[in-house]
This record gives sequence, structure tokens and C-alpha cells, in this order.
Amino acid sequence: MTERFAQVALPLPLASSYTYRIPETLGDRVVPGARVVVPVRRRELIGIVTEGDAAPPAAAARDVLAAPDPETAIPGGLLETARWIARYYGAPIGLTLKCMLPGGMWGESQVVASLVRGARRPGGLAGEVMEWLERRGGDAPVSTAVRALKRPMWDVLGRLARVGAVSLRVEPPDTEAAALTERVATLAGDQPTLLERDALFRRSPRQRRLYEVLEQLGGSALVRHVTGRLGFSAAVLRALEQRGLVRIGRAERMRDPFAECSGVPPPSSLTPAQRDALRTIQALGPGEGALLFGVTGSGKTLVYLEAVRRVLAAGRGAIVLVPEIGLTPQAVSRFRGAFGDQVAVLHSALSDGERADAWRLLRRGERRVAVGARSAIFAPLPALGMIVLDEEHEASYKNGETPRYHARDVAAVRARIEGAVLVLGSATPSLEAMALAERKLRLLRLPERIGARPLPPVELVDLRVAPKVSGTGAVAWSEALDAAIVGTLARREQALLLLNRRGFAAFLQCPDCGEVWQCPRCSISLTVHTAPPGLRCHYCGHEDSLPATCRACGHPVQQMRGFGTQQVERLLAERYPEARLARMDLDTTSTKWSHQRILGAVETGEVDLLLGTQMIAKGLDFPNVTLVGVVDADTGLYLPDFRSAERTFQLLAQVAGRAGRGPKGGRVLVQTRHPAHHALVWAAAHDAEGFLRQERALRESPPYPPATALVNLLVSGTEENDVGRRAAEVAEWCDGLMAKYELPVTVLGPAPCPLARIKDRWRWHVLLKGPSETLGRVVRYAASRLARARDVRVVIDRDPVSLL
Ligand code: ADP
Ligand code: ZN
Repeated sequence: MTERFAQVALPLPLASSYTYRIPETLGDRVVPGARVVVPVRRRELIGIVTEGDAAPPAAAARDVLAAPDPETAIPGGLLETARWIARYYGAPIGLTLKCMLPGGMWGESQVVASLVRGARRPGGLAGEVMEWLERRGGDAPVSTAVRALKRPMWDVLGRLARVGAVSLRVEPPDTEAAALTERVATLAGDQPTLLERDALFRRSPRQRRLYEVLEQLGGSALVRHVTGRLGFSAAVLRALEQRGLVRIGRAERMRDPFAECSGVPPPSSLTPAQRDALRTIQALGPGEGALLFGVTGSGKTLVYLEAVRRVLAAGRGAIVLVPEIGLTPQAVSRFRGAFGDQVAVLHSALSDGERADAWRLLRRGERRVAVGARSAIFAPLPALGMIVLDEEHEASYKNGETPRYHARDVAAVRARIEGAVLVLGSATPSLEAMALAERKLRLLRLPERIGARPLPPVELVDLRVAPKVSGTGAVAWSEALDAAIVGTLARREQALLLLNRRGFAAFLQCPDCGEVWQCPRCSISLTVHTAPPGLRCHYCGHEDSLPATCRACGHPVQQMRGFGTQQVERLLAERYPEARLARMDLDTTSTKWSHQRILGAVETGEVDLLLGTQMIAKGLDFPNVTLVGVVDADTGLYLPDFRSAERTFQLLAQVAGRAGRGPKGGRVLVQTRHPAHHALVWAAAHDAEGFLRQERALRESPPYPPATALVNLLVSGTEENDVGRRAAEVAEWCDGLMAKYELPVTVLGPAPCPLARIKDRWRWHVLLKGPSETLGRVVRYAASRLARARDVRVVIDRDPVSLL
């Protein structure tokens, strides 16, 4: 009898696979995709079998202890997708599975044994265990049983499970009860007057700040938010509590707004263009795909809905991916309206336990439509018939940590493996998707808005010459935009105003010596904020108080430069005092569901002017919005990244698409100092094809995707010299590799990244350009040679979306 071994992946930081011996009794259950209990040092953890027939290890292997599930946890297609990701991106399989499987399903989770009623009771240890379980009320974690009976237990429980005397199930570690309530800080007692405040807080300005921030937040806030994003120390909060000024209590965790999201029935008939698109999608064979290129408001969603409906009718399931920010109640209601409780919504605010529940429902086929952001691509549907990826151009489809997968590419691979159909949709497709449409995808167009509504006219306002309103501080405010807002308010219509920069001012500078306040940990200037007041780093969250004098020369005044949403908000409040305002950016949406609350208020007409960052550009469908104003179109235009023009075009086209979606029509005003830039010119003409053609030509020389594939090797560490030296070694290693094997790859760098330091880590990179297949080989080789973490880390980012 030869011994068999299994490779088992665990959700640990150094998650390569470990080899274990398979005991004979578990032989049939230890197969790829199955969950198993294995010993790891002195603990027992739950892992996933990645290989059921592994080579024997050099050293002696420990035994697999148990295999609690009657069938595999990870379906075959998903496991194969995981293997592709690990190989393509050069990532460890353990980390890949970690982003597929909810934390509550493996790792630290525990196996619970329950007595099956009426089962026959044998003698010996088995009988003892059953009796003990009975005394415990029928079920208990296996680890508790081991401790109580002081005997190894897995073997016996495994046998009892097989004869149906007990059942085994995996449960998340015991954190659920704590997660159900959250700590909330609430102001207590009467509000002190300003005079009283001066006395009260004379020696504790931080306490006063926190007190006033809580006031601004409506009197209460989650403790997590106060000590997290707002950056107050727990000590300041405790001091306020001890002085009786703040009460800390527990509140029920906020409800999941999607749980109760009611459905909106879809339009009852398709337009001819929608029908054509649907017909083509239906004719696609397994593994094939289409790109639905439809202008904003052309009714892409109804095409998805009808395509998914047919998949369900054929007895299969579908995954619908939307960008995290597009996962709004409005979007969810459309899917609920069509498919009712077939829909499982996977969103980032679910707890581990809730996520594990949704996972199980999908795995068992009790829900057949998974709607969610990036990671919903891993929904474990047993018979996957379709994957829809809406707004496929969104950068958020790329994962920011290992494995650095792109959901669009994973979707294509998974669809091929499982014989599903892939549908990508966008009004502003990425150059990559358009390139795919030349070879692999069917290109479908919806060139007109529903009801033949015209796209809103877009006017570029040249800030260098346009007449401006005076007295608006750092904010350039054209008379054209001013008049448009006044008109919109007078007609009781709504306006969206986009400014893709949060905070009050971009930075603080000494007018005398020119010193700019920089983050001490990142190479970026600190942004000036007013609510709460302070200097904040938008990369690491570092905070300083607003200084009165220059730290370099002592000059007594400090000047604010540039402007952000907080400053525009103040301007709007002063200039249009009768308008009801809302602001939506990272600072106003950091608490759970605040996002949804703000959009809800716009939808019900409680808001006249909605000001926001890119968050307001996506997917909103409000018919009473007749004006879109872009306060400064140039914020992202000249970032040192080859996609900066593409991103600017997409943002402008998307936000312009929010105007004139109802019968009243609409218009768009774009303030800029670069009205001749091709991104702006084509956006103003609503001509995505024109933009794509010109941008595609620009990517030929020097070559950038899709004209070539890219790999970014990012070298980082805390010692500047070490990082530079390591980057030079990495580049040299690459040069050597290309020369030795005569590979057609260009090695660029080493060079410091445009953001040369983030969170105390210095950053250099080496960029590889060449054919994708060749880069794939390099990545696999590099993963085994370069990525070993010591003081200096080398991250391999294949198909990077950002080179900052
Ligand atoms: P897109 O996603 O392409 O921007 P939507 O799917 O949001 O466009 O559709 C825009 C609007 O048109 C929505 O309010 C939608 O309900 C409506 N709509 C879509 N298809 C039809 C149709 N066939 N008949 C009537 N209204 C429709
Ligand atoms: Zn910083």
C-alpha cells in the first residue's frame, strides 16, 4: 500500500501549500477543493486541498486530521481559476484562495460536532463522545471535546460522521456576537456655550476639537470612525467620557440596506437596438463574449437583465459585477425587481459570517444571481452560465494587493473554464476591451439614449479667458457656470458639480520662503481640511494641526493654495444661500451607508446641488438633474501615468452622462485651462470612438498597452539607499535574463516612482515591456527568485493599472 500525500493551502501570510499525509480512512474525501483540518505547529487550522496526489515530501509529513464536508467546498471550475491566477500573476495559491473564500469558512474557523437524534450508541470512546455531546445539549466545537475528554478525537468523530451518528460543520470563530453591535460615542448633557467652552477646554484643545467634530457629525459617531479615519486617540475620547461630556454605548449594527431593498420592475419591452444586442448575446457559445458599447442612458442594464433571465431559464446562474461605488440601492433594486430573492448581494460591508452565509447559498444553488463588486467574480455558483461586468473600464476592477488580479481578465478565464458567456459593458470602453473586441469579443453598439433623448450639449469654459465671478477666493468660478446654476435653481431642477479633489485647499505654503507642508511619511504635500480643521495626508492619513507660522523661517502667515471640495462647498453655501447642498467625497461617506443616504436625498429631491468627487460620476440615474458642472477638469490631466488622458476622458464622459436623463433635457459645463487637450475635445463631442482612435495611436510609440504588455516590478522599503540598490539589482537581473534567453522584452529603469515615498516606504520601480506570453514566463521566474521578502520588498504587478 503506497502512501498518499496532499498539498494544502492555508490563509497565512506566507501562504504557499503544505504537504500532509492522507490517512487511509480519509482517502476518498481529501480531493482538490475540499476543506481539511490540519495541524500547523501547535494549532489546528482549516485549509483547502489544492493537490490530492502530491509527491512525497523530503521530511516526514504530518497527517490530515479530518475532512468535515461531504462534498468539496470549492467547485472545480473555481479551483482551476485560482490556479490560473496564481500562475498568471505569479502569486501564491494560498493568498489567491484567501481572496476567493470568505474568512469565516477556513483558517481559524472551527469544526462543530452535533449529535444526530436517535443514532445508535456504540461503546468505547465513540460512545463516550456521544454521551458527552448529549450532556452539552447536542453540539460542541471539536476542540472543546478534545480538551474535556483529554483524548485525540478526529478519528472517532470521522467514523461517527460516516455512520451518520454525528454531523460536522465548520463555523466562523466566535466573533459574530461582538460584530453585531458597535461602539458609538454620543455627546452628553447640555451643549456648553462658547464662553463655557473656552473655560472647559482651556488646557485640552484636542478634546475640544473632538467635541466639536462630534457636534458637526450630528451629535454621535462610531468609535471606530473617530479613532480610525478621524485620527483621534482613544485617550482623548476616554477623557471626554470621564468628564461626562461624551457617553459611549453600544448600538445595533446598522442594517444592511440591501437586505430590504425592494425591487423595481424592469421596463416591459425592449427597444429594437436592445433586442438586437440581446439576440447576439444569446447566440454566443460557451466561453464566448461580447462588449456592449452603449452611450450613457442607452439601456445597457435591461440588456443584462434579459440576458441573465434566459440563463436562469436554462437552469444556470449568473454573476453581475459592478464597480464598488456603483453598488447602490438603485442598482440592486433593478436586479431584485427582475429576479427577486434569487439575488445575493456581495458587498464590502458584510461580516465574515454574513459573507459565508451568502457563499453557502450560492454554492448550494439556492441563490443563482450574485451581484457585487470585484471579488464577486469568485461567487461559487455550481452551474455558471453568464458573467456580466458593467463599467468594465473602471480601475477598481484591479486588485491592489497580491494576487493583483484584474476582474475583467479573471472573468474571461472563468467563463472559458466553465463554459459561460461573458458580457462586458461600458459607455467609455477601455483600450484593452476595444483591442479584445478586434479579436475575441463581439462588439455590440447601443448608439442612442432611450427615447431618442439627445446627449446633453457640453460646453468647455476656457478659464484663461472666460469672464469670472469675483470674490470666490482660490476657486475659479466662471460667470457661465454661475448663471447656469442660478437658472437651474430657479427652475427647481437639480445640478451635480464635480471636483475630483477633496479637502479645503491642495496645500499650505509660506508666502515668504516658499516652504510647502509635506507629509513626513509620504512624498506628497498635505491637504488642508476645515471640518475638522487640520492638515491631512491623502495617502497615509497622517495628520498635523494647522500651523500659524512657517516651520522653516517663522513667517507669521501661511497661505493656502489650490482648492478642494470643502472650499467649493463653502462658496456654494455663500453664493446660493437658498439652495439645499450635499457633498459627497471620502470625508463625508466614511461611515457605513452614508453614501446611500446622500444619494437617497438627491433622489427624493431633498438636495438641489450635489457636489462631489468622482463618486458622483458613476451610474446615477436622476431625471431631474439638468445641469452638470465640472469645476476643474484638469485635476488628473497631467499625472505622470500613461492612462491619465484616458481616465480624464472617462470621468468627463461619465459625469456628462448624468445630465439630461429625463424629459427636461440638460447641459454640461466644463471649466478647464486646457480646452484643446484631446481628452476634453472628444468628451465634449460625446465621441468615445474618436477618443479611442487617437489615444490608441498615441500608445504605439513609445508603446503602452494595448500596443504592448506591461509588468511593473515595484521595489520598496524604509531605507532609501537599500531600495535604490535593490532596484538596480532587479533591473540588472532582468537585463541579464533578457540577454541570456534573447527575450523581446524592454527593461526600463530602475527609477523612483512618481510617488517616491508612501507610508515611510521608499518606492522604486522597473518596468518591463514586451509580448504578454513572454512576460508571463518572466513573471513566473521572477516570482520564485525576486519576491522573497526581507527588508526590501519586490512586488510583481502584471498588467498594472497605475504606474504612480
Ligand atoms: P445605461 O446603463 O446604458 O446608462 P440604463 O440602463 O440606466 O442606461 O437606462 C437608462 C434609463 O432608460 C433607465 O431609467 C431605464 O429604466 C430606461 N430604459 C431602459 N430600457 C428601456 C426600455 N426598453 N423602455 C423604456 N425605458 C427603458
Ligand atoms: Zn502620508
